[in-house]
Amino acid sequence: MATTADVDPRSCAILDGIAAHVTPQQFETWFRPLTLEFVPPDEIRIAVPNRFHQVWIERRYQAVVADAVRQLAGVTPRLVFTVNEALGAHLAPGRPEERDEFPIEVDADDGGGDAADAVSQILNPDYTFENFVVGPSNNFCHAAAKAVAEQPGETYNPLFIHGNSGLGKTHLLQALCHLLQARHGKVMYLSCEDFTNHFINAIESGSLESFRYRYRHADVLAIDDVHFLAEKERTQEEFFHTFNTLYNQQKQIILSSDRHPKDIADLEERLVSRFKWGLVIRLDAPPLETRIAIVKKKARMRGVELGDTAAHYIGEHVKENVRELEGAVNRVIYLARLGGRELDMDLLREALADLMPARMRTGPGLSDVLRIVADRFGIRSTEIQSRKQTKSVVYPRQVCMYLARMCTQSSLEEIGAHFGGRDHTTVHYGIRKVEKLVAHDQDIKRVVDDLVGTLTGHGR
Ligand code: ADP
Ligand code: MG
Repeated sequence: MATTADVDPRSCAILDGIAAHVTPQQFETWFRPLTLEFVPPDEIRIAVPNRFHQVWIERRYQAVVADAVRQLAGVTPRLVFTVNEALGAHLAPGRPEERDEFPIEVDADDGGGDAADAVSQILNPDYTFENFVVGPSNNFCHAAAKAVAEQPGETYNPLFIHGNSGLGKTHLLQALCHLLQARHGKVMYLSCEDFTNHFINAIESGSLESFRYRYRHADVLAIDDVHFLAEKERTQEEFFHTFNTLYNQQKQIILSSDRHPKDIADLEERLVSRFKWGLVIRLDAPPLETRIAIVKKKARMRGVELGDTAAHYIGEHVKENVRELEGAVNRVIYLARLGGRELDMDLLREALADLMPARMRTGPGLSDVLRIVADRFGIRSTEIQSRKQTKSVVYPRQVCMYLARMCTQSSLEEIGAHFGGRDHTTVHYGIRKVEKLVAHDQDIKRVVDDLVGTLTGHGR
């Protein structure tokens, strides 16, 4: 081991750091035989007994070494290996501890990564707090997650976030893990399904001990989609003990589920009550303003500045699920880029046609538009459908055209035919006119938004 006088004292501390993140058996097999030297600013010289040992460390323990170095020296290291066969003198090929470890490592790790952190999934770099749009549907969850980030293990433990699919649970959990990872030791994030699979693998391969060691030595454990525990008695039992161990050591536990703990089928009462010890909080579907902000943010992340009309159109049509909202943005950008097309109403309609829920496809029709606009402006439907050109009729007619384009599946020709026998260029002109008014006049925007709301609520 690197203990000579001229060696940076952090070398030994790095080995200690590694020891804290692997099982004692792994440490004995892979780290005890080598010498490790930290050469500032960022080089780690590792002497290994043979090439195989090097490959094994590179493949399976690189992240563990890098983490230990980052924690101690604040740099991401470059690993430089040399082979020194003398180091392996005591390691006769096929020594029992070496042989024994392989099946455990390989079997317990179905992800192909390092067994020591195989259980922790890689965080999505986009799922950060900066990229999370806050609005009335999620501000409590957001604030709670921020509070946990400030004082993990103290404020809300566990933090339990529930809500329908696609509303940002995973995003928030990972945002929190990103922050905690930077400051607080070993953060494990994984889906409940992975937890369950690892548990089953561990039983089958007789490696329950190392399974337990890993989970119970986390500083932060985030398990996504715990409704997966439903009806899985043995996994619940195991999770119960993991929970207790971590909780008693004031380690932060973060959970998500598509429903409230009390509604998870056959979840043991003692788990239900533990899940409620900290804070149980719900994510709701975002309202229109938040959806529009999300649309713009997602587009910006892909290098596109979406105009108000486009963002509004997308936000208006995809309501219940942010994942679908994001899908719609992607599709719009894809079509615009692929075809080099202008991002106009036609493209938006085309992009969203496939994604729209069935009720939108059978949603409001031209006659609904006509009725609602006539009501709002206090004129007769027949006037809108006439060829009259006075301002008091032309403007509501143009609003009709705009709404028809936004909220129905009708073509420009159909719209023209319905609202006074106009051709499609007149309809196009009318729509553009309203778009401009909406962009520049808050009062008109409010009226139009309100009409859109009335119309799209129509088919429910
Ligand atoms: P869940 O885990 O609840 O099913 P996700 O966290 O996977 O949902 O979110 C689905 C998608 O929607 C992700 O791409 C996520 O980034 C995005 N998303 C959800 N809510 C927001 C938000 N408030 N701001 C930005 N993106 C969001
Ligand atoms: Mg999720």
